[in-house]
Amino acid sequence: MPVNTPHVSLSQQPDTLGRFGSFGGQYVPETLMCALAQLETAFAHYKNEPQFQAELQTLLREYVGRATPLYFAERLSDRYAKPDGTTPQIYLKREDLNHTGAHKINNALGQVLLAKRMGKQRIIAETGAGQHGVATATVCARFGLQCVIYMGIHDMERQALNVFRMRLMGAEVRPVEAGTGTLKDATSEAIRDWVTNVETTHYILGSVAGPHPYPMMVREFQRVIGEETRAQAMENWGELPDILLACVGGGSNAIGLFHPFVDDLNVRLIGIEAAGEGIDTDKHAATLTRGRPGVLHGAMSYVLQDEDGQIIEAHSVSAGLDYPGIGPEHSYLKEMKRAEYYSVTDQQALDAFQRLSQLEGIIPALETSHAIAFLDVLCPQLSGSPRIVINCSGRGDKDVQTVAKLLHLS
Ligand SMILES: *Cc1c(COP(=O)(O)O)cnc(C)c1O
Repeated sequence: MPVNTPHVSLSQQPDTLGRFGSFGGQYVPETLMCALAQLETAFAHYKNEPQFQAELQTLLREYVGRATPLYFAERLSDRYAKPDGTTPQIYLKREDLNHTGAHKINNALGQVLLAKRMGKQRIIAETGAGQHGVATATVCARFGLQCVIYMGIHDMERQALNVFRMRLMGAEVRPVEAGTGTLKDATSEAIRDWVTNVETTHYILGSVAGPHPYPMMVREFQRVIGEETRAQAMENWGELPDILLACVGGGSNAIGLFHPFVDDLNVRLIGIEAAGEGIDTDKHAATLTRGRPGVLHGAMSYVLQDEDGQIIEAHSVSAGLDYPGIGPEHSYLKEMKRAEYYSVTDQQALDAFQRLSQLEGIIPALETSHAIAFLDVLCPQLSGSPRIVINCSGRGDKDVQTVAKLLHLS
């Protein structure tokens, strides 16, 4: 089916109510409406303010280490060579090389600069894999702000290293025992804290989820990934990439890569969800593949839910993808048929984790491994030598213990 043509371009979303088509919006308690309006106003003002931009750009360069390389993965590409000599040209956008090891810091840094200007002295955040918690604890240390991180107890166990890193940098990590003790529960607790302490506190939400303006604002702080990719592609080979591939939890690394290409209809956009133990089991996190529209954490989007609309717990071997919701812009891009979404299982991701380590000497995060794994499905379907850019969203140091245990290596 052709891409639908809305009256504004696909990249011009959301509208003034924070809606991407029928998705997004603000489904929050009355007490938060004022804080969301304040945040929207502050963001609209500062995003184009030269001083704010100068400070952000300097920190992205000197503190985060941007621009990240667009690396040609030669041995990984060779794996998919065809008998006729053609082979996909696979490039990795190296977000794993950012300070703190993932793309999360692009957003945490932008939001902490906003919080400072809004006069908020206390920062809270939710975290799953711990990468967003670490990024938030890092920028709070850098700016001397009080920092409270909500984390599910199950995730605290499987990401013990990141818990230690957050505490080392002075953050308080609050264990969340509710539900399955994962990201959904941590997010609910963070929202509860915000409702109570909204006068003094800024909530640094970690993905393109939650109520407006978060999905838009987090996208704007992450689009640096796609903008750099675009410039690097033009410089390296003088054309846009043919395919962009990224893993999707809440969807921020994927949107960050996709967004500057959304109006370039020749560029295929592919997001990969976590199929856990399989999308036909009840242990997966394939929200767009298996969910239905509903409200979770303040926004209308696809959600994993039962027939009564109760949220179904998600499952993934990677804590960062273990979320029953998805950013509203992805639901919109799916409905508009602009982006494609597929899923890969825990086992496929574990295989890809080892494969990239052995072929390229790069240990990817388990989240990232989902995108890498999909190459085995995608590449045999391609003809010629298309250029594929994969968002290497994070490094796998945090996951080596989990993987060692699963592979019975320790
Ligand atoms: C958090 C995380 C993800 C998933 O979050 P998105 O918002 O979907 O990007 C993916 N990769 C890594 C390395 C992460 O830390």
